[in-house]
Amino acid sequence: MARKVLIAQFMHETNTFSKLPTTLDDYRKRFLVEGDAIVPRFRGTRNELGGYIDAAEKYGWAAVFAVAANATPSGTLTRECWETIRDKILGAARAMGRVDGVCLSLHGAMVSESEDDAEGALLEAIRGIVGREVPVVATLDLHANATRRMAEHASALVSYRTYPHVDGYERAVQAAALAEAAMAGERKPRCLLLQPAMLDGADHGRTTKPGLMRDLLARADGFEKEPGINVVSIQAGFTWSDIPWTGPSVAVSHEPAAEARAKEIARLLCDEIWRRRDENSTDYRPLADGIAAARAGAGKPGPLVLADGTDNPGGGGYNDTTPLLQGLIDAGVENVGFGTICDPVTVRQAMAAGVGATIDVELGGRTDPAMGAPVRARATVRLLSDGRFLNEGPMNAGVLTDMGPTAVLRIGGIDVVTISNRIQTIDLQVFRSQGIEPTHKNVLVVKSVQHFRAAYGPIACEVVLVDTGGICSPDKSRLKFAKLRRPIWPFDGINEPWPAGKGS
Ligand SMILES: [Zn+2]
Repeated sequence: MARKVLIAQFMHETNTFSKLPTTLDDYRKRFLVEGDAIVPRFRGTRNELGGYIDAAEKYGWAAVFAVAANATPSGTLTRECWETIRDKILGAARAMGRVDGVCLSLHGAMVSESEDDAEGALLEAIRGIVGREVPVVATLDLHANATRRMAEHASALVSYRTYPHVDGYERAVQAAALAEAAMAGERKPRCLLLQPAMLDGADHGRTTKPGLMRDLLARADGFEKEPGINVVSIQAGFTWSDIPWTGPSVAVSHEPAAEARAKEIARLLCDEIWRRRDENSTDYRPLADGIAAARAGAGKPGPLVLADGTDNPGGGGYNDTTPLLQGLIDAGVENVGFGTICDPVTVRQAMAAGVGATIDVELGGRTDPAMGAPVRARATVRLLSDGRFLNEGPMNAGVLTDMGPTAVLRIGGIDVVTISNRIQTIDLQVFRSQGIEPTHKNVLVVKSVQHFRAAYGPIACEVVLVDTGGICSPDKSRLKFAKLRRPIWPFDGINEPWPAGKGS
């Protein structure tokens, strides 16, 4: 008899410092797909669902796809949003009667109005339905603020091993293989988690260059070859979240007999994260440096890429801050592709005026004018579209991105891709789908801190990461934590990872 496996995706990286609550509508803008519509939508994609779909076919599972839900990072999920999507998953589990296995695609940093540890609550509820012995595996983003509650109710937490995250497919295939082995009676996976007293660490998970995260992952790869060790995952954490569990962690899925060794592995990796806590390869530069680089011109083939990392929608940035755009206009920089400013009001104005029209705009700066006033300028409407494209990849290759109604506005020498749904600039199609060839530009602006490197790194002659004072600023003194566990590094001057015996 075919094994009955529940498969679902419910993802969000919640920036609790954002003033934008996350609603069901925010999921619909990215995707909120249910039931039988999931397989045709995601078959062949390189995200977790593509991996689970292929695994289900390979193993001949009688798979039930409950929901595929993802929203661009933003503020706390409303209670309605959280409960509605949660209940689609729990309802599907109950309706199945017998459940042999559960494969989930989660983020691990989701916060709702009623649950600071939303994934922990979801896993606990699923465990309550399917019972103790059914394998429940979950993929996580490597920026998960993972918790012991998640580990307690999961059989394995399988986190990305790349940043930019280009291995969602592979992690789902790995998680599904473990679920299959457990259902076949070959494994009895349990999961444990350890977290040092650190707000951030593991170099925020960066894997593009040799360094701490790659060293940690190499050790994790080695540990996974040991008998009884199933999966060793390292989560770098997501700093912009005021919950008790913010910060790096290590999760180890193991066989019952290997529990002591699994604890030791988690301890060894946490010790290294602690020992190397000062290693941070993020190279933020002042805005003026970015403008100066743009003015100077690269003198080399390929565009200069300016990354507006502190307004990164992928970390909850508002996607509408203006200091970089205003700076480029004031400096008279030419042949710039600016991707993107989210401003549905201005898009509607452009659509009413039509292609070729010249309009006076007040662009961006609407969510929090303290982060930069709207840009007042005369703009020519170059192109209007529905803003939808399929990602070229490597990240999320084949997945549909919906920028909402979109207008390309030319201001001076700058083509501003002006959109209606917040999205991180990850893919070259942000420009190409709007008639702009990114390789022909002298300067490209991306609203992203790291993910853009997968697609933009190969075409860039140089990358400059600028701090424009957005919500994702690395300045932790700006973040007013109330719920964070204490004491914690770097706030409390502690000199050991487990103060007062905590975390052991
Ligand atoms: Zn991430």
